[in-house]
Amino acid sequence: MKISVMSDILKANDLLAEDIKKLLFEKNITAWNLMGSPGSGKTAILERLIPMLPETLRAAVIEGDLATSNDAVRIARTGVQSTQINTGGACHLDAAMIRSALEEIEIDAISILFIENVGNLVCPSSFSLGESGRIIVSSITEGDDKPEKYPSMFKTADLVLVNKMDLLGNTNFQMESFMKGMRKVNRNASVLPVSAIEGTGFDSTLQWLLKHVKKSR
Ligand code: MG
Ligand code: ZN
Repeated sequence: MKISVMSDILKANDLLAEDIKKLLFEKNITAWNLMGSPGSGKTAILERLIPMLPETLRAAVIEGDLATSNDAVRIARTGVQSTQINTGGACHLDAAMIRSALEEIEIDAISILFIENVGNLVCPSSFSLGESGRIIVSSITEGDDKPEKYPSMFKTADLVLVNKMDLLGNTNFQMESFMKGMRKVNRNASVLPVSAIEGTGFDSTLQWLLKHVKKSR
């Protein structure tokens, strides 16, 4: 693809994302763009986190996948609104997809929106969805070199959840190496270790979330 064509696409996306951002701001909704590799545990983390949210913080989830509604069905079991986007072939969500998904959500009833992006460490980071912030899930089975290898993704993170900590003894993942790479590309993001399977690290994650919901509201 010619660079000029790509930048036109991104420009059009940014304009639409600005509209979404305005709408969410008016409605007092904090929106998180949740990104990470396929299988890193994005949906599993939402399944842990959503039931922990205080009553005053009603959530909805937009799920993005190439195919199936599996993840939206999993999220619906937590009792919150969930809607599925199937991108067909596309390897990322864009603002136009979010605009139409928002029509299926009763947004006056919510104050927090999670948008689970297509599993991919490359292009989702280029497409703003009008979110308030970005959460990256990186699981330890992917290795500790991911921040350095995929800087565009980790550069824009507000929070990085290092998932599958329960498997630490079975991998050669070194938190110190991960943090070293992370700080090369992003000095400010919070980094929290979690295990979605065992439920560890979610008190800190919730505290982080509550703090940042307040800040952006
Ligand atoms: Mg998922
Ligand atoms: Zn893509």
